[in-house]
Amino acid sequence: MMKKLLYSLVMLAVLASCGGDNDPRLVIITFDGLRWQEVFDGADSVLVGNPKYASNPDALKEAFWRPTVEERRQALMPFTWSYIVENGYMVGNRTKGSQIQVTNAKNYSYPGYSEMFCGYADDERVASNDPVPNPNKTVLEVASEDPRYKGSVMVYASWESIRYAVNNDRGGFPGSSKYEPSIAKNQTPVLQLIDEMQEGMFHYWGSERFDAFTYAYAIETLKSDHPKVMYIGFGDTDEWAHAGKYDEYLRAANYTDKYIRRIVETCESDPFYKGKTTYLLTCDHGRGYLSNFTNHGSGVRGSQNTWFMAFGKGVERLGETENNGPFYNKQFAATIAKVLGIDFTPDNGEKLEPIDPTFKGEPIEEYFPQTDFGKLPAIANAKPKGRGVSYTYHEGQVKSVNELEGLEVKARGVLPNFQISSARVADYYGFQYRALLKIDKGGPYVFALTSDDGSTLWIDGKHVIDNDGSHGSNTEEARMELEAGYHRIEVKYFQKTQGQGLGVVWQGPSIEESAVPDDVLFHE
Ligand SMILES: [Zn+2]
Repeated sequence: MMKKLLYSLVMLAVLASCGGDNDPRLVIITFDGLRWQEVFDGADSVLVGNPKYASNPDALKEAFWRPTVEERRQALMPFTWSYIVENGYMVGNRTKGSQIQVTNAKNYSYPGYSEMFCGYADDERVASNDPVPNPNKTVLEVASEDPRYKGSVMVYASWESIRYAVNNDRGGFPGSSKYEPSIAKNQTPVLQLIDEMQEGMFHYWGSERFDAFTYAYAIETLKSDHPKVMYIGFGDTDEWAHAGKYDEYLRAANYTDKYIRRIVETCESDPFYKGKTTYLLTCDHGRGYLSNFTNHGSGVRGSQNTWFMAFGKGVERLGETENNGPFYNKQFAATIAKVLGIDFTPDNGEKLEPIDPTFKGEPIEEYFPQTDFGKLPAIANAKPKGRGVSYTYHEGQVKSVNELEGLEVKARGVLPNFQISSARVADYYGFQYRALLKIDKGGPYVFALTSDDGSTLWIDGKHVIDNDGSHGSNTEEARMELEAGYHRIEVKYFQKTQGQGLGVVWQGPSIEESAVPDDVLFHE
């Protein structure tokens, strides 16, 4: 009898260690604020070679710049563009008509994670990044109440507030973020070593550890504890982008892609996970376009845009999907519930559909700027008459620079530069400027147009920057290669009420970022 019992116990232990049950396994991975632009297009042409955003632009270009989009994204995220694209699907490439975005009005992290794990955007109660428990129930809490997943849900995140956003304390499942130690039940020498290294290392960011630690904890805990649901939240991409370091941001995307490869290799060579695991990847928000890659938030255009990938067990192998959606990050909770076979109703009572990559709805109309205008030849028959910019001045109530043409011309003449100081009223006026721009040295140029309210910039008849509409101070950029010689530059500006301002900045071969100077502007 004793022998038989012992035998059954041993068998149970063997079954458990081999993953004898067939419950789903789920690995969730998020990248804080990694833009869809880099995921689908690789390094950004405007940012990658810019010394303002990289300590060694040449080395950065060598690492990640390639002539085609396909080569660039392969160089940046090789595992994503070899394994994931073959074994699952990805949505969010807007240049191919695939849309996914957050629905919260904040476009920053805690509301993003809350929306994903709670299944709706609670803009009233979730309105800060503070490390406080989420008032809403999360899908991970519901999972950990299910007998199949009880004691088998774990969270490692770099950023402190993530485990509060998913409510691990209230849900009774372990979580470690910021500089907290390992949460594995089976402490291994490796986990002990990671604890010691983390404790003994410079804590560079106050509320966020480096992803290397989050990765190391997570991969070791997958081996030691075999949780059925593991959520890994990476954050380096967001921190480096805020710091304006496009080089470190790209490197973070690149090494996180390597971490994912190692996590998948580890799981798929372990009988507990092999063939039973679904992997879901996304981000909590996007970022602005061009130099606004450093920012995100409600006023930053484009920062609502995200991406989503799924692969592994039960996932259709559709690769990079096109002309589908729109999808929303709030569908992430329903997608998790579907994988785990649990019933989840968000606290607002509205059950959502899981993300279905074959879904085609009415596309969202959105601002999506072209940012690189390629090579522009010099004007063949330019006839500069003298220094300065021709202008017309208008007064009236408009909401767009396009309406200036319809207003009476109150004044016209030549100004030394794109100036608004000669306006005769404080509100409701506009200027249209036109000049020849003298380029001494051909090569790549970046123009930045800052205004309050709206403005537009045209080079050689091309509408290169749209910063139109009534708004506070905002900057938009464009890149192009200008041949040496004269190019036509046109700027339109309008002021509605309150703050006002206009700035035209450039950067080019041997020209540091600065206002376009008087001595390169000529009227015709
Ligand atoms: Zn951020």
